[in-house]
Amino acid sequence: MLFETHTPATPPTADPLAATPTWMTVMDRAGRTCECTGACGSRHGRSGLRCDTRHGQYLKGHRGPVRLAVGQPDLTDREAAALPPADLRAWCPACWRGTDRRRRAARAALAAHRDTADTADTLF
Ligand SMILES: [Zn+2]
Ligand SMILES: [Zn+2]
Repeated sequence: MLFETHTPATPPTADPLAATPTWMTVMDRAGRTCECTGACGSRHGRSGLRCDTRHGQYLKGHRGPVRLAVGQPDLTDREAAALPPADLRAWCPACWRGTDRRRRAARAALAAHRDTADTADTLF
């Protein structure tokens, strides 16, 4: 996701890649629909195992139209910005938050594991 990673609550409207050629390419491929297939923790079972949130859609509990962002949850903003569109995904805010939360939890668990066992781990 291409916005400040230390402020996970920041809406993807801050995405610096919004409306750039990369954003357009990814969004066209994605059909302007979130490409999450479960990384956020939801199986999206009601929508064919893929999130069906669309760019510009109005959602309950979400102020204004949803704005999808383009990014790659495992990478920093700078790393993601260097990737070709084929390696980037479209994300709705809810899926990004869920994915980011899971990633942070995994890293925290890994750090705790390192603290206690001090073993190398190649996961990240
Ligand atoms: Zn989604
Ligand atoms: Zn999702």
